[in-house]
Amino acid sequence: MIVELISVGTEILMGNIVNTNAAYLAEQCTMLGYSVYYQTTVGDNEKRLSDAIKTAMTRADIILLSGGLGPTMDDITKETVAKVCGLKLIEDEKVREHIKRYFINRKIKKITDNNWKQTLVPEGAKVVENSNGTAPGIIVETKDCKIILMPGPPNELTVMMEEKIIPYLKKLQTNVFYTSMVKMSGIGESYVENQLMDLMKEQTNPTIAPYAKEGEVHIRVTAQGKSKEEAMALVQPAVKEIYHRFGEFVFTDKEDVTLEQNVIELLKKHGATLSTVESCTGGLLTGRLVNVSGASSVIKQGLITYSNEAKMTLVDVQENTLNEYGAVSEQTAKEMAQGAVKRYHTDIAISITGIAGPEGGSKEKPVGLVYIGCCIGKHVFAKEFHFTGNRSKIREASVANALTVLRHAVLEVYEGKVIENKSEQ
Ligand code: ATP
Ligand code: MG
Repeated sequence: MIVELISVGTEILMGNIVNTNAAYLAEQCTMLGYSVYYQTTVGDNEKRLSDAIKTAMTRADIILLSGGLGPTMDDITKETVAKVCGLKLIEDEKVREHIKRYFINRKIKKITDNNWKQTLVPEGAKVVENSNGTAPGIIVETKDCKIILMPGPPNELTVMMEEKIIPYLKKLQTNVFYTSMVKMSGIGESYVENQLMDLMKEQTNPTIAPYAKEGEVHIRVTAQGKSKEEAMALVQPAVKEIYHRFGEFVFTDKEDVTLEQNVIELLKKHGATLSTVESCTGGLLTGRLVNVSGASSVIKQGLITYSNEAKMTLVDVQENTLNEYGAVSEQTAKEMAQGAVKRYHTDIAISITGIAGPEGGSKEKPVGLVYIGCCIGKHVFAKEFHFTGNRSKIREASVANALTVLRHAVLEVYEGKVIENKSEQ
């Protein structure tokens, strides 16, 4: 089934606000197995909105409209949809009650007249309760098309979508969908895409689509069938094949498992403790690890050693090393990790030192140069990375890659696995 999105609002059109509703709705529809072919943004103008709705009705089974349901003069979505479909607007008693209660609960005594405009709904339409606001959602069902109207404020729209609209859309969908999200880290997106080209070219059911995240590549494998079992049976061989091709670079096939979660689980499995020593990432790595509940049994110490003094006093980096090789160097990264293991008595330490920019780069050590050090048992090593982008992108890439370096070190040292170098980040 084909879905079309229409975002209503002059503010979106002019770039005053970012259209997060469209991104959210498109993602939700795709996850439900609907095909989104067009997204339109239109200002608060009746003629242009009416044209957009008419066009969408010729090419979509479902139209999702967001915005313009409020009480003010420029809110015209409902009126325009009613006109296009030739429906009268009539007052809905339940909506009147909902609005009254909404204001009473908020101790607002004076309800301005224009609020009652929201009690009008197109004749025969379904009214969808708005748990976070006054304007109800509306569903108009014509012979060939379902037209769904939702309020513009994202906190109202997402709740309504989750509570009411997704269940409604699921009922329209006769096929069942099943999705696996195969996630990898430490590997380049173009390399992955190249290796999967043959599978992706032939795809119809399941569909295989890669998504790049900072330092990770996710492959969404989705199939549809008459039952969940049938859809699962179509997804599984493709997932197995991806595992086969990428081995240890894959860390999960579950949508809700993150890289840091996987790393914490791996460390727990081996009863290993960890200390982190961060320079240019200033706690970002520790923050991601601590996001995982239960991380406290693994992380014994998180240090920010931004200055040379901190590197010397907190993790015993030698002054000579800093003078000779510099704070951003393989030697310093190694000493940071080694020092942390010794001082804080952990099994493993991971360190990050680099130049996040925009200042501080030189010809020999440009912005984006980052060393990730690791000390695990008798092994101490550091890897050199060259990241691109602005300061926050370089810092995020450093963290994602530090998690991968740590993960691979545990797999190699504790599990004897051999990990080839396939990264071309
Ligand atoms: P209200 O009752 O608040 O007037 P509404 O349904 O009429 O709600 P709009 O007036 O179109 O919605 O938008 C209200 C606010 O919601 C906007 O000022 C904006 O902050 C947010 N908003 C609207 N559309 C979007 C969108 N597509 N993406 C993100 N935010 C949006
Ligand atoms: Mg409005």
